[in-house]
Amino acid sequence: MRMRGTHRGPENLQPNRLNPQTVLAEVFGHAVFRGQQGDVVRHVTDGGDAVVLFPTGAGKSLCYQVPALCRPGVAIIISPLIALMRDQVEALKQAGVPAAMLNSSLNADEARIVRDDLREDRLKLLYVAPERLVTAGFQHMLQDAHISLFAIDEAHCVSQWGHDFRPEYRELSGIAANFPGVPRMALTATADPATRADIIERLGLQNATVFASSFDRPNISYTMVQRQKGKEQLLDFLSTRRGESGIVYCLSRKKVEEAATWLNGQGVRALPYHAGMDPGARSRNQDAFIKEDGVVMTATVAFGMGIDKPDVRFVAHLDMPGSIEAYYQETGRAGRDGEPAAAWMCYAMSDMVLRRRMIDEGAAPEEVKRIERSKLNALLNICEATTCRRQAILSWFGEAHPGNCGNCDNCLTPADTWDATDAVIKAMSAIYRTGERFGMMHVVDVLTGKATEKVGRLGHDRLAVFGKGADVDAKTWQSVLRQISASGLVVVGSEHGGLSLSEEARPILRGEQRVMLRRDTTKRAVRGERNGAATAEMGEGAASLFEGLRKARAALAKEQGVPPYVVFHDTTLRAMAERRPATLEAMAGVPGVGKAKLDRYGARFLKVISEAG
Ligand code: ADP
Ligand code: ZN
Repeated sequence: MRMRGTHRGPENLQPNRLNPQTVLAEVFGHAVFRGQQGDVVRHVTDGGDAVVLFPTGAGKSLCYQVPALCRPGVAIIISPLIALMRDQVEALKQAGVPAAMLNSSLNADEARIVRDDLREDRLKLLYVAPERLVTAGFQHMLQDAHISLFAIDEAHCVSQWGHDFRPEYRELSGIAANFPGVPRMALTATADPATRADIIERLGLQNATVFASSFDRPNISYTMVQRQKGKEQLLDFLSTRRGESGIVYCLSRKKVEEAATWLNGQGVRALPYHAGMDPGARSRNQDAFIKEDGVVMTATVAFGMGIDKPDVRFVAHLDMPGSIEAYYQETGRAGRDGEPAAAWMCYAMSDMVLRRRMIDEGAAPEEVKRIERSKLNALLNICEATTCRRQAILSWFGEAHPGNCGNCDNCLTPADTWDATDAVIKAMSAIYRTGERFGMMHVVDVLTGKATEKVGRLGHDRLAVFGKGADVDAKTWQSVLRQISASGLVVVGSEHGGLSLSEEARPILRGEQRVMLRRDTTKRAVRGERNGAATAEMGEGAASLFEGLRKARAALAKEQGVPPYVVFHDTTLRAMAERRPATLEAMAGVPGVGKAKLDRYGARFLKVISEAG
């Protein structure tokens, strides 16, 4: 197949118009488009504008890469991060596609070569940073170039509502006027309606066709457990995922460092990442995470944006994030390749208290703080839910899901509930009688009749409610208090997490309403994560061949200094391990094996397969 850029002039346009299906199969090695991918590709190939709202891992890149190869000229891809561009360009080159990038990481000579290639029509895709695109010099060059389409990736960066606002993205609104008739597309994985509307408005895409798909990530399993001994619980979780790449999010830099040190002491290869580190060390760690198999990255939220490593097998949270949006975005980094992946979180009431304080002490206007508080509470509500997590999360984003997903802890291990009305009334009266200003620990001490120094000093041992709950252990009381906070019966104050009663508590205190709560068992805390490992469903022979193929891939990647997934994805290796192709023709039928990669690597992997017997 010819894939050079064309020279201008209508007589040359026709030969370069390739069929999307052929490009998908021959260049990318995939048999069929996924979901609405094919619709987007045909629409843009035919010259239409598009807004593509697909979740992470849906395959947004192909939505512009295929039209870029089907249409004459060069596609300009605007991308916010150098790391992102580098990986994509590398992957395209491996597939035999003439692609390049222009950003501040290139030296003058390298940049000149790219500009020459652009001028000489030698490129099919050019990735540029937004600040580069809007410079007068570059605009001038583009006016002379033959542009097939503009794709604005991570388009939520244009919106202040999004988490990654980039002022440079605002300038992109000028593209429509400067390049009339050239198709434009905006792509993002943001699920938030306000951000979506803002993107369309800011980028002048009111007339574009909007392609939106469900934001469900069925391959990600969700588990949320109460934190007792967080690190031990994490280790239990990690013990089911040896050799897999994953991210462990912590709230503070200090916790990131501690978690990394501790995990290494436990035999888990973990590397820290946070904004307080020396930039060199930070990018070395990021590189190791991307290029080596099986590294665990312990990180603050500074890590993640622009990491499109497809085989992140789990995302764990040692602390509760600040909102469902943040949680969904962070966990969404797992399982981009569509293979099973796990989102695991452990949380405690103290997270709630800390987050509340961060909001209250923050600089935001009161109106914003109010929204942040309700977002935080909504997340706690999902943590404490006894029903399907997936349903609850999607419903927050306005998407209906029937529930019973079969891939979250509540669906896999249905919660055991009990009529807790009497206990809840006792807990509420302890809160009320102590003056509605003490945190969970003290309230539990009063309920269980623990004569602490504080109890004695305040005279709380003389209250009628003191020791009224001694028949129940402290852990159960904590669980009761957490659950009634989550459901809004009790409000957590910002001052040391003091608990107070809400209006909704009244009918319960008056005995007009009963309360069902979840029984927390420690078994729940360690269970839930069985179905994650990429090799879990493979037979033993296939699993060991898969490991062999991964070794071969690691060696090839290292020779070229590229991430392993640029050579082949896990999905592809898994299919090879299962099908055991014996010839190059059979190898060509494995998903993810395009022509260029077949020529380049086919023989090498065939050898691994034949040697495995
Ligand atoms: P997004 O940008 O939407 O997060 P990517 O473009 O990174 O997703 O694609 C996610 C993964 O899905 C990649 O591993 C990609 O190779 C794979 N993929 C995309 N489209 C297809 C397809 N039609 N068939 C098979 N795999 C696909
Ligand atoms: Zn579920």
